[in-house]
Amino acid sequence: QKPFDYLIVGSGLYGAVFAHEAQKHQKKCLVIDKRDHLGGNVYCEAVEGINVHKYGAHIFHTNDKAIWDYVNRFVTFNRYTNSPLANYKGDLYNLPFNMNTFYKLWGVTSPQEAQEIIASQTKKYQVKTPKNLEEQALSLVGEDIYYKLIKGYTEKQWGRKAVDLPAFIIKRLPLRFTFDNNYFNDTYQGIPIGGYNKLIEGLLKDVVCKTGVDYFLDKTHWDQMADTIVFTGKIDEFYGYCHGKLEYRSLRFEHETLDQPNYQGNAVVNYTDAETPYTRVLEHKHFEFGKQNKTVITREYPLEAAAGNEPYYPINNAKNSDLYKKYKAMAANDEVIFGGRLAEYKYYDMHQVIAAALSKTKSLFGS
Ligand code: FAD
Repeated sequence: QKPFDYLIVGSGLYGAVFAHEAQKHQKKCLVIDKRDHLGGNVYCEAVEGINVHKYGAHIFHTNDKAIWDYVNRFVTFNRYTNSPLANYKGDLYNLPFNMNTFYKLWGVTSPQEAQEIIASQTKKYQVKTPKNLEEQALSLVGEDIYYKLIKGYTEKQWGRKAVDLPAFIIKRLPLRFTFDNNYFNDTYQGIPIGGYNKLIEGLLKDVVCKTGVDYFLDKTHWDQMADTIVFTGKIDEFYGYCHGKLEYRSLRFEHETLDQPNYQGNAVVNYTDAETPYTRVLEHKHFEFGKQNKTVITREYPLEAAAGNEPYYPINNAKNSDLYKKYKAMAANDEVIFGGRLAEYKYYDMHQVIAAALSKTKSLFGS
């Protein structure tokens, strides 16, 4: 008889929701995480009373009322609305592209004037099949928006010239002809009051958790702890990279505490020129309307996917998709449950990963 029903490797949202639901159904769970804290990428570190999003800005948004109600059972969410700014060579523009952006770019005050300018700028780029990302973007939004607000940012993000990037990376570039700076279209949006750790603590209350332990360093020991393994780490690592390594884009975060109450007046400012080496500056207190005397900012630098770098964004090209299929086929013949962004090699927003974990537990334990 093993001491636990489930060993859950990874305490991110997938692992935490799975553990919560399993425990609700009288299953004994043990959660382990190799990091020295729980919560995976939504973890916040308290600095000067400010919840610092240690692994990048996390803004919760969903259209699914059931998911919104679910997370609000553990912590109340505030009414934060994501309305990022773009800084291009010192000039500020509103994002997503909307009438405020067009007013700043061209001085236009009516949707019709903005539409006419965009039509005149995109006309000559209406080729049948854009050969690369640059051609694709120019055909969708025209020169001004592309050169000021897209090109530099995208090239920094991917570490490659836009003419060397495939067109499919940008499928659509939404243009809004209203004065609306709300980045997301979802009905529900916000940040947990007191930070994401409250959500994770609520989910993992009463669950046995161990941090600072890497499953692979003593796999045999951990496998003996439970009847079933739920694995939320990297699927290629689970199978010893036997088919090769899945690729990820990574980021480097540079956190800084400043002795001033307000640095940039907004939670997120994107730097869209090519010269500034970082892509974004976050000012964390604004996620929770903080009034502290100091402030904490984070500069976000894009990083090549390389050994040792945190895997953040799956690179969904043909090579990686084929590779993932091979691992998925192996997983299909395994007793282990694979879930979450690393095990499914999939970009999941928070609401989606919660929905995926709830769907899995529902199939196992009923609602
Ligand atoms: P993770 O949170 O990564 O958890 C996996 C856990 O497994 C980690 O804690 C890891 O340490 C642990 N682990 C891995 N291997 C092992 C091992 N061998 N042994 C022990 N433990 C192990 N979503 C939104 O909805 N809104 C946003 O604004 C948003 N912003 C984002 C910004 C960035 C930079 C990134 C990268 C993601 C963002 N997301 C956002 C997505 C969000 O982070 C994910 O949906 C969510 O964190 C996925 O949860 P998870 O449990 O699948 O993975």
